Amino acid sequence: MSRVLIIGAGGVGRVVTHKCAQNPDSFSDIWLASRTLGKADRIASEVAEKTGRVVHTAAVDANLVPELVALIKQVQPFMIINVALPYQDLTIMDACLQTSVHYLDTANYEPLDEAKFEYSWQWAYRERFEKAGLMALLGSGFDPGVTNVFSAYMQKHYFDTMDYVDILDCNGGDHGYAFATNFNPEINIREVTSNGRYFENGEWIETAPMQFKKQFDFDQVGPKNMYLLYHEEMESLSVNLKGVKRMRFWMTFGDAYLRHLEVFRNIGLDSVEPIEFEGRKIVPIQFLKALLPDPANLGPRTVGKTNIGVICRGTKNSKPVSRYTYNICDHQECYKETNAQGVSYTTGVPAMIGAMMMIEGHWMKPGVYNMEEFNPDPFMAALNEQGLPWTDIETDINVDSLPE
Ligand code: NDP
Repeated sequence: MSRVLIIGAGGVGRVVTHKCAQNPDSFSDIWLASRTLGKADRIASEVAEKTGRVVHTAAVDANLVPELVALIKQVQPFMIINVALPYQDLTIMDACLQTSVHYLDTANYEPLDEAKFEYSWQWAYRERFEKAGLMALLGSGFDPGVTNVFSAYMQKHYFDTMDYVDILDCNGGDHGYAFATNFNPEINIREVTSNGRYFENGEWIETAPMQFKKQFDFDQVGPKNMYLLYHEEMESLSVNLKGVKRMRFWMTFGDAYLRHLEVFRNIGLDSVEPIEFEGRKIVPIQFLKALLPDPANLGPRTVGKTNIGVICRGTKNSKPVSRYTYNICDHQECYKETNAQGVSYTTGVPAMIGAMMMIEGHWMKPGVYNMEEFNPDPFMAALNEQGLPWTDIETDINVDSLPE
């Protein structure tokens, strides 16, 4: 049976639903549930128009396990594709355990009141999933997700040891707004205003936000400033890749974006601490989110490309090796295909492929897993077939030698 229940009708949910509908052999039956039924219905009618397929919809509050359990019992899916927010990861995992349904998500659990990104909460479910004979696949987006699979692919095919790993994430898209985020603003701003961190010689080294900067000329995008951030895939990769001496994550930001963030930060608009406002409590970052453009509506106006990849230096048969694997994605092409911009597309396509890997049995074993723990080859093949083709080259690029 390949009935799936997608939870979350945002930008990523839209892409997942379109891509599942495009692959009827893997996804025979599609349900989409979200907090606001109207959003799910809108996506369902877009998909019907483009593919002729029926998507069933439902309303659910994924913070509430009993509501989820009732819906899952009604739908009886093979698995849940969770593309709601990271706050809902644990309630959805609990509901999966109660109903014997497999689980997949694209972002690790975060508590609402604390900007803290780590897998500990979800890894704590390993034994329960194993005992129940169920699988949970964590982080099946682009980063985390495809970057983990790129790393596993390079490890499998080119390296005995991967000494230096740099993940480079560039969004060269332009939406024409003074400030907007390409995915959920609350999650995005929490991520980029947190301290940076990288992994070196078995330890995590903390940095101030945006402390380290490099300039890099991204293929088909051009030169951009990129900044060292902490990003969640490094936590599992630091455990699962062999012999990593240092791993860093870099993301590009334009000067205008950073100026806005600085102002938000200076006046406390990025805070997750509730404040009293006219007799009620509001969370500043949630208020800011309400003011900003909805990322799900950026699609028609975003032009340009994303370029995300991994550069590794290490050894094979005691000889030095250096490789770069990356994907380039065009925002307008994504919009034409799925009515969504590139960041939603590059997340939603891998979420669909992760589910396809589980449904087709390429990746299926009881327990809680990160992407690099499976054979990367079928996933890499599917990326080429499903709209995210990749380039894999030998390189002499050394991020340490790039200008600052
Ligand atoms: P959006 O905010 O556009 O969409 C989230 C959707 O989830 C909304 O439709 C929202 O419904 C729904 N939702 C929120 N809370 C609940 C709830 N309690 N119950 C049911 N539905 C709920 O976010 P995105 O689509 O941009 O992102 C989706 C996920 O993808 C996030 O977890 C994000 O962190 C992750 N992501 C991962 C990336 C990767 O590369 N790995 C990159 C980008 C995003 P409503 O509108 O009604 O509130």
